Parts: sequence; C-alpha cells; structure tokens
Amino acid sequence: MTFAIQVENLCKQYGDQQAVKGISFTVEQGSLFAFLGANGAGKSTTIEILCTLLKKSSGTVKVNGYTLDASNDNAEIRKSIGVVFQQSLLDERLTVRENIIHRGKTYGLSKQQLNENYQFVSTYLHLADIEKRKYGTLSGGQKRRADIARALIHRPKILFLDEPTTGLDPQTRQFVWQAIKQLQLETNMTVFLTTHYMEEAAVAHQVIVLKEGAIVAEGTPDALKTKYAYDSMAIVFHNNSEGIQWLEENAISYTENLGIFSIRVESTLHALTLLKKAESLIASFEVIKGTMDDVFLHIMSEGGVA
Ligand code: ATP
Repeated sequence: MTFAIQVENLCKQYGDQQAVKGISFTVEQGSLFAFLGANGAGKSTTIEILCTLLKKSSGTVKVNGYTLDASNDNAEIRKSIGVVFQQSLLDERLTVRENIIHRGKTYGLSKQQLNENYQFVSTYLHLADIEKRKYGTLSGGQKRRADIARALIHRPKILFLDEPTTGLDPQTRQFVWQAIKQLQLETNMTVFLTTHYMEEAAVAHQVIVLKEGAIVAEGTPDALKTKYAYDSMAIVFHNNSEGIQWLEENAISYTENLGIFSIRVESTLHALTLLKKAESLIASFEVIKGTMDDVFLHIMSEGGVA
C-alpha cells in the first residue's frame, strides 16, 4: 500500500491553546479521504499544516513521500498538491481562464503543457460556459468550479478541499460534488476533504472524526456505521395492545410515537425474520438504515474510541 499522506503525533499549539493534540493517521494514495469534526475541531489547522502554510508545533508529516520541514521538501510538497480553501484566492477582475492560466504559469509549465492541462480541468469542471467571464461576476457554484480548476492546473497528486460545497444550493452542490468524485475515480488522484455533509463522507474510502483536536473515530463509512449507527424498523400494528404483547413476549425493546413502534434491528435480514414471526399483527412497516449522520451525532454526543 502506498501512502499519499503519513501523519505521526502531530501537534499544534496556538499560544496556550492546543488546537491539534498528537494525531496520527495515513491516507492511501488514490483514495477519497474525509476529515470530519464539529466547528473548531482542528480540521483547517491540520490541512494548513499538511499544505505547508502553517508551522506544526511537533510531530512528523510526510506528503507524497516528502518530509514536511526537511530541507527542500516543502517546495516539493507544494508542487505536488492542489488546495481549495473556504476563501477564494482568485482575482475578481480577471476572467476564469486568465486566473487559471496565470496560476499554471507560476508552476513553470510550458505553453503546450498549460494548454493540455487547461483542457483537462475545463472538461472536468465544465468551464466552457464561464471561462471568458470575470471571476467577480460569477455565482457561488461557478466560483467553486473555477477555484477547483485553479487548484488542479498543475495536475497535483493530492487535492485538498476544505468544505468545498458549503454554502452552495443543493443542485450546485451535487454538480460540484459529482465533478470531484469523477476526478478522483478517473484520475486516481488522492482527495483529502473536510466536509459537514455526511452524504459526502459516506462515499469516502476512509473517514476520520476529529473532536477538540484529537481523533475520536476512524474507519470506512461502513465500519463506522456498524459501530456507531444502527438500522431500525418502524412498525404499525393492526392492534396496538396485541403488538405490545408480542414485543414484550419476545423481549424486544421499543419506543412508540403516535402508534408507530420503533425497534432496533441488526440488519435488514433480522428485520425480515421478525416480520415473518409477527406477519399477522403488522399493518405496515419501514426499515430505516443507519446513516453517517447518526454516526456523527453519536460520536459528537458521546465521543468515540479511535
Ligand atoms: P471549522 O469547521 O469551523 O472550519 P476547524 O475544525 O477547521 O473548524 P480550526 O479552524 O482548525 O477548526 O480551529 C481549531 C481551534 O484552533 C479552534 O479552537 C480555533 O479557535 C483555534 N484557532 C484556529 N486558528 C487560530 C489562530 N490563528 N490563533 C489562535 N487560535 C486559533
């Protein structure tokens, strides 16, 4: 397994405050990695350190095989990554194309390489309809597409995205998110993402949850769901007292709200077994799958164990 990122015992202190408290993790090359946490958990601080923009207090970090803060390695790290922050860095007065080409030139790309790379980013981010427009006149979603394209113009191995879809309307968010996923899948680029949208984290290969500067949970979305979320079944009985009697006889814990009984099930198959047993009593039912939202809420309320 090749790692795009290796972090060991990373700490960041702002004066008296320890924003990152000795975290360790790895990110597999070519994977989609989601970094989650409530506001102030230390996500942006960590990303800024990995991107060489902020000095770590201690710990070791390797990005694309280069060691952070070792002789010339920070320059090599910067060349091998692309970064999209919450705040845009593009010039409002230049067109989208001018902004992106200008950025490409700072990497010393030849004219031919620049054109090829521009075509590449333009295809993925659908720039044709906005490339001649001044960045300052674009909508939020159009700006985001241009921001991501700018970060990709030198074809980095890792793309860092700090809340790429925050503030976008649902349709635009879907569009930007699709572009990111397609890029990751088709180009085998590593994508390191922070997000508050759990449906985005649900398709990541690996998820880390940060709380107050420490890792409180990590794993694949499926593993986290198994550990911190559960499936449930909502049942409406023909007759409530008969339903309650059946639940109690079978020692099944339940909650009831307006005649809808909610029980925990281990899996859809488990739900099926229960349904078969009580078929004649049940008027309707629904199996509700555990989600990443449940995982996040569970970890945030009780704290997970990494
Ligand atoms: P958000 O989701 O709101 O972006 P985050 O998880 O990215 O939050 P950080 O921005 O990394 O969190 O902040 C982590 C902690 O460090 C917070 O308590 C924040 O107030 C503090 N912090 C961040 N930057 C500084 C700074 N320059 N000086 C002092 N404290 C800071």
